[in-house]
Amino acid sequence: MENSKKLSVDDIKKIETDFKNEVESALKVAKQAPKGGGDEWFALLRNHEIQPLTDEIRGQVSMQIPTMTSGAYPFEVRMVLDKIFNKYKEITKNLNNDKYIKDHFELNDALYDVNFYLTRRFDVDFEINKYYSMIKAPVTLNNIFANASSSLNIYSSNLKESRSDTLRCKSCGAPRLKENQYDFCVFCGSNLFSKTNRYE
Ligand SMILES: [Zn+2]
Repeated sequence: MENSKKLSVDDIKKIETDFKNEVESALKVAKQAPKGGGDEWFALLRNHEIQPLTDEIRGQVSMQIPTMTSGAYPFEVRMVLDKIFNKYKEITKNLNNDKYIKDHFELNDALYDVNFYLTRRFDVDFEINKYYSMIKAPVTLNNIFANASSSLNIYSSNLKESRSDTLRCKSCGAPRLKENQYDFCVFCGSNLFSKTNRYE
């Protein structure tokens, strides 16, 4: 990068600040949106070139989090945070290969800190879970899913089967719906499912 010859320590530190600000302002729009997102939220998705969730997935998410009364869906929030993260990862990747920065230890140190923040401190699962705890109604997570499962009867028609064969999302703890044919959690977007309550 030719421009980087004029980079100062402050310029490099600013990358981390910009990243944090961008994440924070996306979360703010998400929080202030009506349930499932509003004009401002969908505009933000467009700006990041992200397709909103399909109506089918929206239906499933809506069933799964009946106590959510406002805010964009966590899955979409995750997609935005991932996109922002990747953008800044790309910026630092270019700088990491910059000879001028390598030759100046104070620039190198500043860049190290930015890399450290992005790869070791920032945790999208943590951010999504924190976001969820802010938008949900004040009920415990277990209550929500217990209520959802008994009132909507969407997990299984056979209670024994549902108790012994429940896949839960490693990230947010949401149970995976029987009808969910996706490899990811429709609730938070994580693609890691773990099997719990196995009795065999
Ligand atoms: Zn999840």
